[in-house]
Amino acid sequence: MRLDNEELFKFFQSKDIQVLYHANTTQTSVTYFNQNGLLSRGAVENLGLRQTKQSSDEADKILNVWNDVFLDSTDLHSYFGRQNYYGPILFEFDIELIKDYQYEIWITKNNPIYWNKDTPLEERYFQNIAELNNDWGKYSTQKKMITIRNNTSPILFEYVRRVVVDDPRVKIDDEIRLFNETAKIINENVSDGHILKGKFKIRECVNCWCRDNYLNQVGVIDLKRLFLQ
Ligand SMILES: [Zn+2]
Repeated sequence: MRLDNEELFKFFQSKDIQVLYHANTTQTSVTYFNQNGLLSRGAVENLGLRQTKQSSDEADKILNVWNDVFLDSTDLHSYFGRQNYYGPILFEFDIELIKDYQYEIWITKNNPIYWNKDTPLEERYFQNIAELNNDWGKYSTQKKMITIRNNTSPILFEYVRRVVVDDPRVKIDDEIRLFNETAKIINENVSDGHILKGKFKIRECVNCWCRDNYLNQVGVIDLKRLFLQ
């Protein structure tokens, strides 16, 4: 169910949630940089632009979330002490975004990868602000995805506070420092005068498994898929 934007904004204020987060790969982020905003996977496809394939793509179409943009209310990398599985580039949006009535916002009760086509709407989404108020604490933070539905045009970067990028500090092919390549791609696509210029920050981790995972678990093919174009 669509939630009233102004009421939702007040709800997030009551929970002291100031920022919404969206993580993605470098390749998909470059499309966002060039379009000056986030887009749903369906919108990227319709516009004929590039994005990294995701294993959930086919299911997303069946479950009717293909045209939705997904945001988290928590920085899941910091929260879990590991890399974000959707990619190393994290866009941080000011909560003011919520107030914009052009955005149709629904909040999930679980990640759609756990839905099937028969999952009823009331199990998929919070139904209203009263239910949010009553049950917000009943669901784990990563299950509550703030979705901007039926998105066809860029969710503009005017609300972006900063963009945080992981540096896995790994070399690939024995010589290239992966992050140098990522930084080069970002610089080539975010020129002087771009709304995101000066907003990038390299992530600093404390007690985090991301480096260990990037080094020992992710593998070169996936590192390239996540960090390169
Ligand atoms: Zn980390």
